[in-house]
Order: sequence, then structure tokens, then C-alpha cells
Amino acid sequence: MGTQEKVALVTGASRGIGKAIALALGEEGFKIAVNYRSNAKYAEEVVETLRQKKVEAIAVKADVSNADEVEEMFINVEKTLGVVQVLVNNAGITKDNLLMRMKNEEWDDVIKADLYSVFFTTKRAIRPMLKTKWGRIVNVSSVIGLIGNKGQANYAAAKAGIIGFTKSSARELASRGITVNAIAPGFIETDMTAVLPEEIKNGMLAQIPAGRFGKTEDVANLVRFLCTDYASYITGQVIAVDGGMTMV
Ligand code: NAP
Repeated sequence: MGTQEKVALVTGASRGIGKAIALALGEEGFKIAVNYRSNAKYAEEVVETLRQKKVEAIAVKADVSNADEVEEMFINVEKTLGVVQVLVNNAGITKDNLLMRMKNEEWDDVIKADLYSVFFTTKRAIRPMLKTKWGRIVNVSSVIGLIGNKGQANYAAAKAGIIGFTKSSARELASRGITVNAIAPGFIETDMTAVLPEEIKNGMLAQIPAGRFGKTEDVANLVRFLCTDYASYITGQVIAVDGGMTMV
């Protein structure tokens, strides 16, 4: 089964890694639903870039930490593009603080946006995938979910949670032609990491054997591969894209 006519939904695709994934999947031949939460202008720019490349695409607003908005988003995409056969759970936020100072809201906000969202979208997406017996789900975790980080207990918990969720759902869905994998990016240059102080960035760089920060395309290339038929026997895996940072 080729990618022609298949629909890919990428959450948080208005900027950063999600945008690069949307563009790469568009190049691969998928129709693209570009989800965003608040930044309509950026999401429309991604759609425009895709359309210029003759890729059918729409922008779809939804806060993926809200189950009702997720349901509405799927209905919109199904009406305009068709059923979602590729789901990339990329949307995520950080609200860093040392554990001693972390507010309950900082914990809740990150767990909801980064982990609940994956449950809501995946549960909704697999209904039609089970019928067509084909599906690709890629969950964007993080190296922080593997090794932890000071000031990121909320984020690390959410990203480690994604890994357990990925493996469990992969086991449930493997016999139905649906693969579920997680990717664990290292330090990738986006708005999320641009706000970090130089001192922290330099400390991170020292831990990366490749000697450079990652680009959004480094991550998008892996997602693109995982969504094709070349990756049909790969499921339940966590693949780091981190310049060797977490190799054991
Ligand atoms: P980013 O530049 O901050 O972009 C985040 C994207 O997620 C935006 O499109 C944003 O939409 C969207 N978003 C946030 N909360 C959302 C919600 N509740 N509902 C819908 N969309 C939402 O982030 P990024 O660096 O590209 O990161 C993308 C993913 O990779 C995240 O899951 C992040 O944890 C993960 N990651 C990043 C790095 C890194 O070094 N950058 C490393 C490891 C993992 P709006 O524009 O509308 O706000």
C-alpha cells in the first residue's frame, strides 16, 4: 500500500519539529492535517507551503489536551481529507521548575498537553485504522523521558509515560497492521529550546558526540521513514535522534 490518498494528522505542526514532519510527510505523498492550538497564521503558512507543492492540506485548530476538541478535530479532518491513517503525536510544552518549587498547575499543564493528548488522539485514531487494517502512529517522546533532567520532572514523567503507552498500544495493535513507535529527540533547535540560557546550551552540547544540535529535519526524516511501508515490521520501539547523546 503506497502513501497516495492516505491522510496524516500531525499535532502541533504550526512550528518546529511538527512543521518539519508535516512537510516531510507531504513530500512522501500523504494528505496533511496541520493541527495547532493558537497560532493560526503559522499553521496556515505550513498549509500554503504544502499546497504550493501540490499536497492536499488543511489547518485544524484544537487543543489536544482537551478530549472534546480532539473529537471535533477528527470529525473535521474526516469530512475534508478523509480518515486519518497516520497519526503523529508531536504537540508538547514545557513548564520547567525545580521539584521543590513546581506548582501543581505546572505539573498538570505539562502532563495534560504532553501525555493525556496522546491517549485522546490515539484512542480516537485507531477506530478507523482497525477497520482498514493499516495505520502508523508515531509518538514524540524525548531523551528527557529516558534519562531525566533537573527542573523537568513534569516533562520527564510525561515523556516517559509516552514510552509505556507506545509499547502497550503497539502490543495491542501489532496484529492489525498498525505500528506504534516512539521517537526520542535530543536537543533540537526550535522555539522550545531557543529560550534556554547559553550556559545550559553549552552544557548540553558538551554531551552530544555528534558535536552539534539537531535540526528539525533530522527528526522529520525518521518519522517519514516510520510512516512508510518500509517500516511495517518495526513497532513498539523507542528510537533516539540525538547525535549519540544517550547511547549505552
Ligand atoms: P515548539 O517549537 O514549541 O512547537 C510546539 C508545537 O506544539 C506548536 O505547533 C504548538 O502550537 C503546539 N502545541 C502545544 N501545545 C498544544 C496543544 N495543547 N494542542 C495543540 N497543539 C499544541 O516545540 P518543538 O521543539 O517543535 O517540540 C515538538 C515536540 O518535540 C514536543 O512534543 C517536544 O516535547 C518534543 N521534543 C522537542 C525537543 C527539542 O529539543 N526541541 C527535544 C525532544 C522532544 P501553537 O503554535 O499553536 O502554540
